[in-house]
Amino acid sequence: MLIPFFSFSQNINTLFSEKGEVYFSFKYKNKTQLDNISDIVSLDHKTNNTTAFAYANKDEYGSFLKLDIEHIIIPKKRLNYKNGSKNNWDYYPTYEEYTEMMQAFADSFPSICKIHHLGTLNSGREILIVQISNNIGQKENEPSFLYTSSMHGDELAGYILSLRLIDYILNGYGNNTRLTDLVDNIDIWINPLANPDGAYAGGNQDVWSASRYNANWVDLNRNYPDPEDGAHPDGNAYQTETNIFMGLADTVNFTISANMHGGAEVCNYPWDTWSNITADNNWWEHVSNEYADSCQANSGNGYFNYLNDGITNGWDWYEVDGGRQDYMNYFKYCKEFTLELSDDKTPNPNDLPTLWDANYPSLLNYMEQSLFGIRGIVTDSITGNPIKAKVEITNHDVDSSHVYSNLPIGNYHRYLYQGNYSLTFSKAGYHSKTINATILNQDIIIEDVQLVPFGSTNIFELNNSKTNSQSFDILGRESTNKKIKIIKTKDGNIKKQIIIN
Ligand SMILES: [Zn+2]
Repeated sequence: MLIPFFSFSQNINTLFSEKGEVYFSFKYKNKTQLDNISDIVSLDHKTNNTTAFAYANKDEYGSFLKLDIEHIIIPKKRLNYKNGSKNNWDYYPTYEEYTEMMQAFADSFPSICKIHHLGTLNSGREILIVQISNNIGQKENEPSFLYTSSMHGDELAGYILSLRLIDYILNGYGNNTRLTDLVDNIDIWINPLANPDGAYAGGNQDVWSASRYNANWVDLNRNYPDPEDGAHPDGNAYQTETNIFMGLADTVNFTISANMHGGAEVCNYPWDTWSNITADNNWWEHVSNEYADSCQANSGNGYFNYLNDGITNGWDWYEVDGGRQDYMNYFKYCKEFTLELSDDKTPNPNDLPTLWDANYPSLLNYMEQSLFGIRGIVTDSITGNPIKAKVEITNHDVDSSHVYSNLPIGNYHRYLYQGNYSLTFSKAGYHSKTINATILNQDIIIEDVQLVPFGSTNIFELNNSKTNSQSFDILGRESTNKKIKIIKTKDGNIKKQIIIN
């Protein structure tokens, strides 16, 4: 039931007396107008070519009213779904059941699963994440992968799919080759519920009164630093949930991730904040199509085909400032996209098994993408110690699409669409090094790189295939070696070393 637009004279306080957010729809004229409105209220994923849907807290709604745009308030009523059973996964747990499940994963599989308590909200609810690895707690030469869901507290398909994915991977380890390979080769992190105060806004007993916003009525997906708009693009302080995830991203150095939402059925890839196309647009289209195609193949008619057959550039759909996707890509050098998993934000529990069947092959595919592209370890050529170096691709990288090797291992992971690339490794105090690589989709290229330090030694790299001024050695002699480096140590001794590439 829709309640027609009401006059400004109605008391806004009444509207917000029960819940700190309202949901409404309106018609818009063009994208410019929509983008301007997006600065004021939170556009919802249901937004399409003619009609926008939006959420607003009391202040945001007050600002929206000043635009004098006709709109319709859509009452969000308590859902009256009936849970199925926990064993069949057609079930939303209570908050306590959720925390018990997360603890039970770690308790049941202590050698490959660890629970991390990332932080406690004022409500007492926790942000929890499980880490799954064959060498739990050890840093390895592996990509760190993140799934996180439901930062919009009423978008809950991914909440259950994430829990079921954890269960599926843990029980498959040692039994299923594909799942065993994932655990053996990837540092997997899964956070099923990023906004527990929103999901359980109606109380810990069920999710039937979930809200999009957190307990302070802030949209967490507008609360991150933005590549274009800088700090606090929404005008709010960073929320506890936001600080927890920024801290996690600082600690773990995720290389690839996905953020699960609902309200539509589409992969949304960067950017959200501006019309710039990413350096890796063809890679994004490739992995997004892989996700959508597999969902379509594993479901009935009409699932996951919204917008461009189940994929969209974020900004093309509608602008988002302060979103987590852009934050992770721009500031954390992590390839993150947004998965909109179901038209129904909180699906009927009966539909959850079908959603699982449609999505879990795609979820595994995307995890495997973390292993592809070019990767290796960057070390100091003298000491052999791993170093944090910048890995930049000539005539390709733009808008922070480069990556860094991560300590303590020195591993880097650069995801690329197939083609020929020239990668330069650099770090202050070291000679830069450039390598060429041919990348194939769904394939791994390993290139370990040694960087030669300035300072205590004088080093020249020689390569007589080059005709430039570097084709002589430290003593001024033409080099006949294919590629050698000559090191003059502090005490004046000269070492010569063949470089094998
Ligand atoms: Zn969302």
